[in-house]
Amino acid sequence: MSNVLVVAEVAEGALRKATLTTVTFAREAAQKTSGKVHGLVIGKGVDGAAQELAKYVDQVHVVDGDAFANPVAEPYAKAVVAGKEAAGATVVTMAATSHGKDMLPRAAALLGAAMASDVIAFGPEGFQLVRPIQAGNVIATVELTTDVKVVSTRTTDFDAAAEAGAAGAVSALTVDAGELKTRYVKLDKVASERPDLGDAEVVISGGRGLKEGDNFPKLIEPLADKLGAAIGASRAVVDAGWVPNDMQVGQTGKVVSPNLYIAVGISGAIQHVAGMKGSKTIVAINKDPEAPIFQIADYGLVTDLFKAVPELLEKL
Ligand SMILES: Cc1cc2nc3c(=O)[nH]c(=O)nc-3n(C[C@H](O)[C@H](O)[C@H](O)COP(=O)(O)OP(=O)(O)OC[C@H]3O[C@@H](n4cnc5c(N)ncnc54)[C@H](O)[C@@H]3O)c2cc1C
Repeated sequence: MSNVLVVAEVAEGALRKATLTTVTFAREAAQKTSGKVHGLVIGKGVDGAAQELAKYVDQVHVVDGDAFANPVAEPYAKAVVAGKEAAGATVVTMAATSHGKDMLPRAAALLGAAMASDVIAFGPEGFQLVRPIQAGNVIATVELTTDVKVVSTRTTDFDAAAEAGAAGAVSALTVDAGELKTRYVKLDKVASERPDLGDAEVVISGGRGLKEGDNFPKLIEPLADKLGAAIGASRAVVDAGWVPNDMQVGQTGKVVSPNLYIAVGISGAIQHVAGMKGSKTIVAINKDPEAPIFQIADYGLVTDLFKAVPELLEKL
């Protein structure tokens, strides 16, 4: 059998939207391998997520237990190995989210499988895969030559799958996590009423042009509140300690593709652009007409942000 296994991303018992973009990749992969699409849901109390995933795939395997209560790579990777066996899969895929990036390479190593990360499309022939490298400046086409292939997919490059005609079967899979060398301590989560940066329709990001951290609550937050937007940031301001690092957009931060991305006081360094150039409409506010952000912006406002943002707020 050459099925394709989608490893689900689950947060607080619910299936994350990112998983459905991987289902889209998996459906195309399954056509190439003449197999079916299976899903794997790992966690504790994840029956709801499993039922939800079953609407999109042919069969769902559920690994549910105390050892999987928190998304720790070590036990999860073991569950992926068991899931791959149960599914009869030769392709294992997951969204390239923070959790996917952390866990999937470990699963690939356990499986003795080659892995392609951050895949954005299939290549022109066979099972070739296309992925950006060098901060998105080079697009590579690669082929994995092992029998089992592991692929993480970039969420911004695949549409979320539609429900399949009939819901797939859900079955429990028992996995012994064995002795673990990693112990879960705690998750520090920023409580926010705003949408998640990865899922938001509108993202407003601030950069060093804001001059100081206090200008995030003064200028960026009110704008985000008006537009129901998530807030992002450049690495320069994360490094300066103005905002937490889970807000960083870019090569070493989050990759986002909202309908609207507003960059305020951000120069548009390639490492930043790597994380947001998939946005549908890009608006840049920057006082320097030569700033590289204007090369990719759909709308550019060459002006002082301390004048433009209050005016924009007033108009909104
Ligand atoms: C390995 C590596 C990985 C990296 N990863 C990332 C990443 O993931 N994400 C990321 O963002 N960066 C990343 N960087 C850093 C990146 O190279 C840039 O240094 C960073 O993005 C710059 O942030 P910035 O645009 O806020 O600051 P700056 O480059 O200093 O730009 C500030 C901008 O604000 C404008 N400005 C100033 N005052 C005003 C005003 N009053 N009104 C309007 N505009 C104004 C200026 O004209 C300027 O264009 C990485 C770098 C390396 C080497």
